[in-house]
Amino acid sequence: MCQKLCGNDSNHAGEPAKEGSSRRDFLGKGASALGAAVVSSTPLPALAAPARDDLRDLPKDTGASHRRYLLKGGAVLSMDPQVGNFAQGDVLIEGKQIVAVGPNLHAPGAAVINAAGMIVMPGFVDTHHHQYQTALRSFLSDGLLFNDGLPHGEKNYLDYIHFKITPVFRPEDAYIAELVSSLSQLDAGVTTVVDTSQVGHTPTHTDAVIQGLQEAGRRAVFVYSPGSGPGNIFPNDLQRLQSQYFSSSDQLLTLAMGGEVFDPAFRTYWAIGRQNGLPIVTHLVGSIGQATLVEQLASEGLLGPDLVFIHASKISDASWQAIAQSGAGVSVAAPIEMVMRHGMPPLQSALDHGVQPSLSTDVECTMTADFFTQMRSVFTLQRALINERAINGETNLPELLTCRDVIRFATVEGARVARLSHKIGSLTPGKEADILLLRADSVNVAPLNNVPGAVVTLMDRSNVDTVIVGGRIRKWRGALVDVNWARLRTALEASRDYLLQAAGVQRELF
Ligand SMILES: [Zn+2]
Repeated sequence: MCQKLCGNDSNHAGEPAKEGSSRRDFLGKGASALGAAVVSSTPLPALAAPARDDLRDLPKDTGASHRRYLLKGGAVLSMDPQVGNFAQGDVLIEGKQIVAVGPNLHAPGAAVINAAGMIVMPGFVDTHHHQYQTALRSFLSDGLLFNDGLPHGEKNYLDYIHFKITPVFRPEDAYIAELVSSLSQLDAGVTTVVDTSQVGHTPTHTDAVIQGLQEAGRRAVFVYSPGSGPGNIFPNDLQRLQSQYFSSSDQLLTLAMGGEVFDPAFRTYWAIGRQNGLPIVTHLVGSIGQATLVEQLASEGLLGPDLVFIHASKISDASWQAIAQSGAGVSVAAPIEMVMRHGMPPLQSALDHGVQPSLSTDVECTMTADFFTQMRSVFTLQRALINERAINGETNLPELLTCRDVIRFATVEGARVARLSHKIGSLTPGKEADILLLRADSVNVAPLNNVPGAVVTLMDRSNVDTVIVGGRIRKWRGALVDVNWARLRTALEASRDYLLQAAGVQRELF
């Protein structure tokens, strides 16, 4: 039993015996929570589901080496100016890669997937998501970030999620949350995530997070981050993690270093990340004493294109100039920033300084993690603010965002900020095939008159027909592949029950 998972224990030479045994405890509990599915030897052992009628015509072995198939006759939005767009175009995939994009491709021997009535485009990239909180979905929908002494701050993230609930997380809670969150975003067409889960209470917790990410069969950047309590050994687990999980860069899961500027030791963490060639991810909120921090970091020579600043709300103009000069990435979580009082999402500040933002979902305890919500939020917000300035008589205004702009933030810029542009972000021959087929012939979208407009202003998760990651089909004709949702939901609900009870927090259903 548990061959794939338990087999990893032999790689933990030098770890205290206590860690080995607690890891086995977690695996035992995980196996009992998920039932027989977890012990199967199929590629996704926790997920294997009974064969379904609607998966019968699923092409076999997609993503396998040399396996070729053709997405035929869709409206292709490549997001690569060199490739262009096609009202009726084809995408040829071989193994994990895109081989060709264009009209009327000839591909002898390739399986054909009919994409008529579909928009074919790159998968979305979420550059900041705390996936470990999935069992707490909608728990804090009305909450703020923290009690800032201003009105309305009583129910807030810092007090409830950070201080009360996160410390009681067990490895199996992190595992099931990571897995379900990954699958949920796959279902919505978000093929890549930068997972900023801050629940590394012990190495076993960290392993559980990585296991959940791996088993979902999605592309992810795991941001190595500390947890709390006596078992937290951050950053001293980095070498083990690198050798155990990240020895190859030719895999769906890659590594980044968590270097939160809220932590007094962050300069040390940044140095460790850079010594190991890792990108560095940190939150940055100007209204919490960080309005000019980036200026200070620039004067110390610490900025660079390997940094990602999450939120970057309410920071100084000089900070933006420094970010632009350094090439550092920015991740804007617009719906969360608006709801939780991080300050105005800094879209216009970024654009005014020549910085292209990426988009991120942050926490599902307060907002959905689907990217149609992301794109519509930044599209409507930026235009509302500029339109208001126009009505008020201002001239020389910035451009209004277009639908194509926000799709670019959600794909090309997301890939750049995740440092995965060489693999994903556009439908470019040679890149890996992370591709969405979106139904444009459905009741909420037809007739199709403008492709970017349909994606941004009309579509939702129900239009995500087929999702491909690294050439492998993970959602097919509206249904996730290899997922036993009833089993996963039961485990997630049990985790939720434990977390709230252990934290002494009431669920308020109404
Ligand atoms: Zn965050």
